[in-house]
Amino acid sequence: MECDTMTPLQPAARRELVLREAVRRRLLDPEEALLAAFVDLDGVAASVAALHRAFPPGAEVLHTFAAKANCLVPLLARLNELGMGCEVAGPGEFAQALAAGFDPGRIVFDSPAKTRRELVRALELGAAVNIDNWQELDRVDELLRAGASASRIGVRVNPQVGAGVIGAMSTATATSKFGITLADPGNAERLVEAFRARPWLTWIHVHVGSQGCPLDLMAEGVARAVSFAERVDAELGRRQVMGVDLGGGLPVNFADDTTTPTFADYVERLRAHAPGLFDGRYRLATEFGRSLLAKNGFTAAYVEYTKDSGGRRIAVTHAGAQVATRTVFMPDAWPLRITAHHPSGEAKDGAPLPQDVAGPCCFAGDLLARARPLPPLEPGDLVALLDTGAYYATTHFQYNSLPEPAVHGFTVDAGGGVRFVPLRRAQRVEELLRPVD
Ligand SMILES: *Cc1c(COP(=O)(O)O)cnc(C)c1O
Repeated sequence: MECDTMTPLQPAARRELVLREAVRRRLLDPEEALLAAFVDLDGVAASVAALHRAFPPGAEVLHTFAAKANCLVPLLARLNELGMGCEVAGPGEFAQALAAGFDPGRIVFDSPAKTRRELVRALELGAAVNIDNWQELDRVDELLRAGASASRIGVRVNPQVGAGVIGAMSTATATSKFGITLADPGNAERLVEAFRARPWLTWIHVHVGSQGCPLDLMAEGVARAVSFAERVDAELGRRQVMGVDLGGGLPVNFADDTTTPTFADYVERLRAHAPGLFDGRYRLATEFGRSLLAKNGFTAAYVEYTKDSGGRRIAVTHAGAQVATRTVFMPDAWPLRITAHHPSGEAKDGAPLPQDVAGPCCFAGDLLARARPLPPLEPGDLVALLDTGAYYATTHFQYNSLPEPAVHGFTVDAGGGVRFVPLRRAQRVEELLRPVD
């Protein structure tokens, strides 16, 4: 596609350009590459810049990327170059963050089930650790008696502000599995004493939840964490809490191409709920995942067949539960936009017809969309699943031994030239045949 002006392409035109190039370069192929995911690296850089701009220039903030949202090492390496730290929740993500080149002091380790060995390693490397529960606190006591650590150590609190609209994504309910609850009788007092006895305990961590949590609920959770930090210092009569880690969780708009809410919107709500957060007393950390990546990625798949069943038009594609697990199992909570394309990648027009967009998995519920009005799909066409840069192709669900698709990063220059950067190659079927060793 020619680009005769220097104005940046609109998102739909940009995706179409990338799809056409991907077909031309055989990154999508009806036999060899039925399915592939794409990450807009220019978009990622712009999202990171927006996050940095949203916080006051004087604030000392470590912005970490929540690796689970898209854990590919080359992508994490890019985020490292862009000045991000990395939040990890297990030994795999920890290893990926190190392989991506993150300085251990810019890694935050946040699993609710850290083993002794994992804690030893994090404390040896000097990664930040957020303790999840009383037993983990005892364990860290024991490990620190054996040897000092450069790690900054915090406690994850649960402000118990309640749930958003997706229960499975809400981490600050009264009975959530995460963190030490602040409102249960005696807990706040006990935690203040825990800080008194441990001068090395200097951070408070909170993560209210992800997609589906309104900004005011998230900001109120952070506000309760900040007022708890203030209480610790007041009761101890000294400056002990050095920092507040506010977690991630900014929701993403899956309905169209606008980015809303923005990081700036969230900071504005944080200022309203928790003014103490920005008065210079605390160092800050964030852990955004979905809001940095989701809108910067899409997934493309070929239509293999179409059929009519019970009066319903169905397009059977190569993208289903293996790459869109949440959408398939919880379609109301995780709807995705889908666009229709010719085999060349060019966008299809044509009067919309309600169609089920099905995946390749052998269970009836493997549907990306039901009765979705789309230009009529034909075998050999492509569909694109939009806003799938986080928690889609990189959180593969291995059903029917379907292999992991390739993930390609891309950049587009001012003249419309597309450059692809491999982020993950496609898994080969032979890799599924490894014997037990
Ligand atoms: C999942 C998670 C995040 C990132 O959440 P997003 O909704 O992707 O921003 C941050 N912190 C913790 C502790 C998490 O579990």
